[in-house]
Amino acid sequence: MNAENVLQRPTLVLNRRWMPIRTAPVQDAIGLVAKGTAMIIEPESFETHDLLSWNDFSRARERFGLVMIRSPRLALVPPEVILLKTYEGPGGRAVVFSRKNLFKRDRYTCQYCGLQPGPEELTVDHVVPRSRGGVSSWENCVLACVDCNKRKADLSPAQAGLRLRKSPKKPSWKALVQVPSRDRRESWDKFLSRAYWEVELEP
Ligand SMILES: [Zn+2]
Repeated sequence: MNAENVLQRPTLVLNRRWMPIRTAPVQDAIGLVAKGTAMIIEPESFETHDLLSWNDFSRARERFGLVMIRSPRLALVPPEVILLKTYEGPGGRAVVFSRKNLFKRDRYTCQYCGLQPGPEELTVDHVVPRSRGGVSSWENCVLACVDCNKRKADLSPAQAGLRLRKSPKKPSWKALVQVPSRDRRESWDKFLSRAYWEVELEP
């Protein structure tokens, strides 16, 4: 791998509550650390480093033949995870209840039969029908394919002989952090799964 590729590798960016918020190229991640707005996290130990202590950490590992980013003063192992020191959001904010986000949450999948017929063939279904007082909310709306939606009509799922594949919940913004699997690094798993568990544990 040449130096240019290393600088373009993705780094996982956490907000100051250690929640993954996005990825950034290694080059930008180092820039943030150099400015003092972020720290590098050593994924094994969870230790945090500034550029100089990361330089020491990296040099201690030089003999293992790791890919290094070199400048006249520094030799750095490309950071895989960084922590923003002051940035709080968007972790505190709820996900807006919107069509777009509902499609994302349900992954373009009919929540009754599991088909993925494409966005045009999916409708927003009220689990408890509006005619029976059901509201439009994360907990009462799911994606349904045209067939399931027709079959369900103004019935409850049980009455229509349909079963939800999982009970609909309000997603946390964290669940919407999308990291394409080709960009994922093994060291990110614990940070991403940590976010996953916190989603599950929300009241
Ligand atoms: Zn269906």
